[in-house]
Amino acid sequence: MARKFFVGGNWKCNGTTEEVKKIVSTLNGGDVPSPDVVEVVVSPPFVFLPLVKTTLRPDFHVAAQNCWVKNGGAYTGEVSAEMLVNLDIPWVILGHSERRSLLKESNDFVGDKVAYALAKGLKVIACVGETLEQREAGSTMEVVAAQTKAIAERVTDWTNVVLAYEPVWAIGTGKVASPAQAQEVHSELRDWLQANTSPEIASTTRIIYGGSVSGGNCKELAAKPDVDGFLVGGASLKPEFIDIIKSAEVKKSS
Ligand code: PEP
Repeated sequence: MARKFFVGGNWKCNGTTEEVKKIVSTLNGGDVPSPDVVEVVVSPPFVFLPLVKTTLRPDFHVAAQNCWVKNGGAYTGEVSAEMLVNLDIPWVILGHSERRSLLKESNDFVGDKVAYALAKGLKVIACVGETLEQREAGSTMEVVAAQTKAIAERVTDWTNVVLAYEPVWAIGTGKVASPAQAQEVHSELRDWLQANTSPEIASTTRIIYGGSVSGGNCKELAAKPDVDGFLVGGASLKPEFIDIIKSAEVKKSS
């Protein structure tokens, strides 16, 4: 079964109401491949989720950038998976490296969040990725395998999981992984899934790349066999996000 190309836009902690309306209007006017070729999900900050959900074209979907690890209650400042479901938000990004490093989210905590969000009916973009030090020390695969293992230990059904390989050194730095570097890790992650989950999960789970993806570099990356799409930060706030979505066409012709 072919894996449908997936493009996510992570808006991070950016935007005013006016700016958000402008981005949505650009997206709504974008000429992109049909939903059977590419799945598009954008992730505004929590406060803009209702606005984006009600104004965004229906073939694009929305994601939250995080959610709490269990049901709501006395957790000041958190947003629960139940609340997202209540608002009809279908997706959530979990384990982003900014949360792992700045908020000290551990592999186990991220694994618990992924399992809880899935159990509540959300679809999850689960992020993994190594730092520059870890890459230079030759431990890239060990790091991403440990991050993925914490998810695999808690999740049996991967239907609603997209795995985002996001090398920390490439996020927001303008230093994109080469297509060969991305392909190498994606293929090893797929092998890891094959050995540790099932051949079916390995062949059907989408593994997307994130880290300084732009309109200029997306086509080359998209051409790699194990790159099933992108998670885009900075460029998802700009009109070039449309070009990145269009890179799905590369897969159709390959
Ligand atoms: C991200 O935040 O997930 C990301 C990949 O950011 P950027 O595209 O800006 O590197």
